[in-house]
Amino acid sequence: MDAMYKAVRGTQDVLPADSGKWQYMEQTALSVAQDFGYREIRTPVFEQTALFQRSVGETTDVVQKEMYTFLDKGERSITLRPEGTAGAARAALEHGLLAGALPVKASYVTSCYRYEKPQAGRLREFHQFGVECFGAAAPQADAEIITLAATILESLGVTGVQLHINSIGCPECRAQYHAALKEYFTAHKESLCGTCLDRLERNPMRILDCKSPECAAVAAGAPVMLDYLCDDCAAHFEEVKACLTDAGLSFEVDPRIVRGLDYYTRTVFEFISDALGAQSTVCGGGRYDGLIEELGGAHVPSLGFGMGLERLLMVMEAKGVSFPETPVCEVYFASMGEAAARRCFTLTTKLRQGGVAAECDTVGRSLKAQMKYADKIGARYTLVVGDDELASGTARLKDMATGETEDVTLDDGLYSVLYNKSLDRQLAGMTDLLGEELGGLDGLSGLSL
Ligand code: ATP
Ligand code: MG
Repeated sequence: MDAMYKAVRGTQDVLPADSGKWQYMEQTALSVAQDFGYREIRTPVFEQTALFQRSVGETTDVVQKEMYTFLDKGERSITLRPEGTAGAARAALEHGLLAGALPVKASYVTSCYRYEKPQAGRLREFHQFGVECFGAAAPQADAEIITLAATILESLGVTGVQLHINSIGCPECRAQYHAALKEYFTAHKESLCGTCLDRLERNPMRILDCKSPECAAVAAGAPVMLDYLCDDCAAHFEEVKACLTDAGLSFEVDPRIVRGLDYYTRTVFEFISDALGAQSTVCGGGRYDGLIEELGGAHVPSLGFGMGLERLLMVMEAKGVSFPETPVCEVYFASMGEAAARRCFTLTTKLRQGGVAAECDTVGRSLKAQMKYADKIGARYTLVVGDDELASGTARLKDMATGETEDVTLDDGLYSVLYNKSLDRQLAGMTDLLGEELGGLDGLSGLSL
């Protein structure tokens, strides 16, 4: 039967069978970021439209054609966030965080909304893991967030991702570059798409970001920003590269990276995967030294990145990365008869209170159907309880993987048996992991401090 309602075009559900993968990605990213000094920030899903127009930039694709903007019942113009930086910056300003000790470091997992053409790796509702670091001007800060993104990808076992970096200078040196770009693109006007003709007037650098093959071909021969950097911007970029090299990160300087949002200055970067086809950027970010002033604050040099979680998951699946086992049912109580069903419910509740994942029948199924269900949900152990077991106070615990059985008592003894089994398993898992970690430590000896 066809479902009467379907998810809106460009949106996607995460079903219970897959949510463990999302939790793993999100928790890994948040916890690595925490090691780098970032703590989570949560901001509203919608903001005043003006905030995004001001920060993302009037001439960007995002503001011009991709925003979900509507009037609320109070006639206020509201926009669903297309990205995470503006809201985080707004919150940091509003709550006076930037007047305190700097840098302020914030991380988030957030949904974003852009009216784009849905395709593989491009959705209208998508999710980002992101970080923002407010009030850090030194090149070490640029290297720090790039290293953070690299460490997250590495911790998740992602391979085949290449780091591309560029500098797009500051407003001063960019003015000269804009003039050069304008001259170049004006000479190639006839090959540009309609949107880019408009960009030529308003913001010629955006043409470098155009996805149309004709524009990309013209852009390939365009002057590059790196040749126009002022001394300060050039020195900053050199230092960022030196820090990345010291940190053992390999990268490619890619003058075509300009990023799609207007607030960037100096360092911009992308992590590009070889497994994604056209939508290959897993993570993009950079420095935005002018944004906080633009939003009415002081001069607070800042930077951040956004990592697309749908794309990250696609890369991990394409690369066959293994995800940790999602917690399964430890023990399933199969019951025969009303009295046994009630006893099983009590036992299940007690075990759950003690932190053991237990299940019992809530459907009123036959014993055979209950056992089938236990198998389907991957229960590690099953226990069948009927009148005989109730009378004797003991039952047979069956290991579903090996078929081995042992008799257990239907009281606190059952809890210790199951608890010890799960402890043994965790210990074995930790020993394996420790073995790997110790092996991994060899890699560290290459790090000379
Ligand atoms: P793209 O090159 O794909 O248009 P972008 O420059 O618009 O990306 P950012 O605004 O920097 O992207 O967002 C950071 C990351 O969020 C991207 O690198 C990508 O992984 C992800 N992302 C951006 N737009 C989408 C989308 N529509 N659907 C899914 N993921 C997206
Ligand atoms: Mg985009």
